[in-house]
Amino acid sequence: LKTIIRSNPGLLLLKDATIIGKWSHNQLPDPDELTASPDKLPIGQQPDDGVTGKLIKVLLTFLLPLTLLTIADRLWAWSKWVRNKEKKESDKIFQIFKNKKKMRKKIVAGNWKMNLNLQDGVALAKEINEALAADKPNCEVIICTPFIHLASVAQVLDQNVVALGAENCADKVKGAYTGEVSAEMVKSTGAQYVILGHSERRQYYGETAEILKEKVDLALANGLKILFCCGETLEERQAEKQNEVVKAELEGSVFHLDAEAWKNIVIAYEPIWAIGTGMTATSDQAEEMLAYIRSIVAEKYGQEAAENTSILYGGSCKASNAPELFSKPNIDGGLIGGASLKCADFKGIIDAWKK
Ligand code: PEP
Repeated sequence: LKTIIRSNPGLLLLKDATIIGKWSHNQLPDPDELTASPDKLPIGQQPDDGVTGKLIKVLLTFLLPLTLLTIADRLWAWSKWVRNKEKKESDKIFQIFKNKKKMRKKIVAGNWKMNLNLQDGVALAKEINEALAADKPNCEVIICTPFIHLASVAQVLDQNVVALGAENCADKVKGAYTGEVSAEMVKSTGAQYVILGHSERRQYYGETAEILKEKVDLALANGLKILFCCGETLEERQAEKQNEVVKAELEGSVFHLDAEAWKNIVIAYEPIWAIGTGMTATSDQAEEMLAYIRSIVAEKYGQEAAENTSILYGGSCKASNAPELFSKPNIDGGLIGGASLKCADFKGIIDAWKK
């Protein structure tokens, strides 16, 4: 009874096993109301809310708040799920973007050409190596030296910091070719790269697309990676033939490679009118051409291979214009002539990748 009344003491009024009323000890009915037997008085009557009324009361008291609470809880859980999903999606997009940027190497490569005697060359290589060991670059750095420097420079470079390359190699395997240096010989010095197709070699030494194709094949067969140069003359640009010229150079010497071999190719776009002239292509001109090169690489090797191909700009690149050039999405670095002959100038360009 105490449990039913929820009061001690309390009063419970029952009729035929049905509870008619219950009172706590501090809310007892007024004794003055009890003027007759309870079944004659209002307090002794069954409350007029029947089973339906009671059910409605129960529903309103318990089920309605519970339902509202459940709906609020589900809404909150759903909005949390949506927020997480959106975050994951944007993370994925960010990741793809980041990976794409990361997938290909950023490179700054020096081309010493026919400058510096052996002692000066070794001293410069040492200086560059020390500077970059002390202040780690944010890109791959390569120095391409004359043949006679290679073996000595290899001794003073930590190739995890600065990789070594040659400026050329022969189009023959070996034998009676006086004055030539084979790809195998280059590789045996410790060099990892070779520049092929430079406009100075095409122009002054008659290197045709066919000769370059032979060199490309021999360099790859000997485990060298290739910095392959292409670019148009001023007249060709003025006649708006630059795309045609560059495409023909690539088709003539490197587009015969299979997808696996292509992974060892770095393209350097060097407009001939900008090499050593102080006349740099504008960053928009360079970007436009590099985007075009990437598009024809994609046509040939597929989009993924194109995204993975490093394409450099070369032609009067220096510390002052490198940040602007390297900020373009398709420019993955530079092939540097004149400004690679002094450590401070070269490092200034390398540091552009930190800006
Ligand atoms: C080059 O010859 O590869 C080159 C880019 O030269 P420069 O930087 O001197 O224009």
